[in-house]
Amino acid sequence: MNTITKVRKIEFKVTLDAQQRQVFEHHSRDLRFIWNTGLACIQWREWWEKWQQVLESPDRVGYEPETVPINWACNIVKSPKKKKKDEESEKKVYALACDRVQYRLEKTTNLELGTGEWTEPRKDRNGKIDEDHCWVAYPCKPEPVREHWTEEPRLLLLMKNPYMALRTMFAKKNWDPETVEGKIIHGLNTAWVAGECKALGDAWSSYKSGVRKRPRFKKRHDRSNLINPSSKQAKFSGNSLTLPGLGRVTVKGLQQRWGEKPACPIALIKEGDEFYLQLTGELEIPVVRSNKVTIGIDPGSVRLATTDNGAVIEAHKFGKQMTRRQKKLQASINRKLRLNSDRVYDESDSSRFYLKPRKNWKRKNLQKVRTKLQKLSAKTARQRRAYNHFHSTRIVQSADVIIMEGLELKNVTRAVKKGKSGEHNKRKAKAGLNRSLLDNAIGQFYGMIEQKAKDAGKVTARVNPFRTSMTCNKCGFSDAKNRKTQAGFHCQKCGHSDNADRNAALNIKRMGVLGVTKLTFDNDWNITVPGWIEPGDLVALHSKGLKPVGTAKKRSKRAGKEHPSQLALEIGSQ
Ligand SMILES: [Zn+2]
Repeated sequence: MNTITKVRKIEFKVTLDAQQRQVFEHHSRDLRFIWNTGLACIQWREWWEKWQQVLESPDRVGYEPETVPINWACNIVKSPKKKKKDEESEKKVYALACDRVQYRLEKTTNLELGTGEWTEPRKDRNGKIDEDHCWVAYPCKPEPVREHWTEEPRLLLLMKNPYMALRTMFAKKNWDPETVEGKIIHGLNTAWVAGECKALGDAWSSYKSGVRKRPRFKKRHDRSNLINPSSKQAKFSGNSLTLPGLGRVTVKGLQQRWGEKPACPIALIKEGDEFYLQLTGELEIPVVRSNKVTIGIDPGSVRLATTDNGAVIEAHKFGKQMTRRQKKLQASINRKLRLNSDRVYDESDSSRFYLKPRKNWKRKNLQKVRTKLQKLSAKTARQRRAYNHFHSTRIVQSADVIIMEGLELKNVTRAVKKGKSGEHNKRKAKAGLNRSLLDNAIGQFYGMIEQKAKDAGKVTARVNPFRTSMTCNKCGFSDAKNRKTQAGFHCQKCGHSDNADRNAALNIKRMGVLGVTKLTFDNDWNITVPGWIEPGDLVALHSKGLKPVGTAKKRSKRAGKEHPSQLALEIGSQ
């Protein structure tokens, strides 16, 4: 069988002895300090840059740029439409918004002082910054800059990926071992510190390029991991591996699945109370053969997916069973918290209170239950991932062109039908839970398909799922009545009957083959795509770069109001 070399990540289970566990706990705790300090530094630099822009703006009056203010005050510009709400929020909310600093000075009366807390600017539904609700930032209460931050001009130069700046910043020679911070840094192994800096640098650069969300500060119960970005320090021999600071660990199946080739990076992850080793490196993987088949996939609300040839991938069953146990454990945690805390009442409102844990409460049992819960969710996630790997590989092997639904949150979260008032909340909560489990699975599943298809040199495309489940695949008639039950599709016009999901998958496939990213309709809900032809034209798809289109807005209102000629085809040409 032919093989090619690709960069892959493989996970192994490892067992650590008591001493190694201790080293791990110690490191993961102190690396959190590195992450949080580094992130605070980066954010400070970001504020500082914005402040420079404020200084350069012509509207600045009355504030002298001698010092960089740490405290800022912000206000909301009143919206003419929602006056009442805004008056309330105007009093409450004051924060520093860095992505959007308006350089306009308002009247300085009624200003509340902010302490530089981070908030994102408000955005409207389309992701545009909401002009009516935008923040106005004022420099106020100028304070001398804290010395610690000004010592780091390097960070300013390297804001895109601050990895090297962070490395220099957390180098041992820059920290006095007598201070508290110095003690922490001198007690850490350099390899893992480098890994933490790399992780933070990468997280920041992918946030800046819009791939990931803004990195957050790490908390006590966040998942802990150690990363070693270098391949030099780890020594492989047989089934054991020497890790910096930890010594030799035995890894099950290392020889068989990895051998002794270098791995970079190496990550050690704790899930619950178990440890996993992730190795990334070049691996030989078999070439997936080409077979000139196009496939359409429809994600179901009950199933994970259905393909156009009728193959059904059921939703994994692990989640449901686990959810029940997770709920029990969560209830136990809540109970423990409740029983060991005192109620502290709000001074202004005696009906409101919060729980304050007692000081001498020993939390050993709470920690035990938390570990159990973590283990359980980690297990569910692993099972789901394995399940998705299995099926995504099979799908990529089975076809050359894979057409899927454009996944956007609004498309996926479907409305829950209204019930009686008592029932409603219950049903909503249940549906939400099931959906969220399934949504995670679908997102991951599609991601895997796209990645694997890319590696194998195959094509994937996303289309808008607007009315694909209601439209007849034989005649192009679209009506909600076509789908009377969850599973069955029966066309009201031509009488064609099929499995509902399969019918939708066929529509999705056909759209992909035609190079149409969205279905359009005339007044009778007949499809207006010219040349509603049989699928199978691979060339058309390859020549046109398909792209996903936005969500369908106001579905019900659109019907009959616009003339068919206005509903132009959206051909995905790039
Ligand atoms: Zn029909």
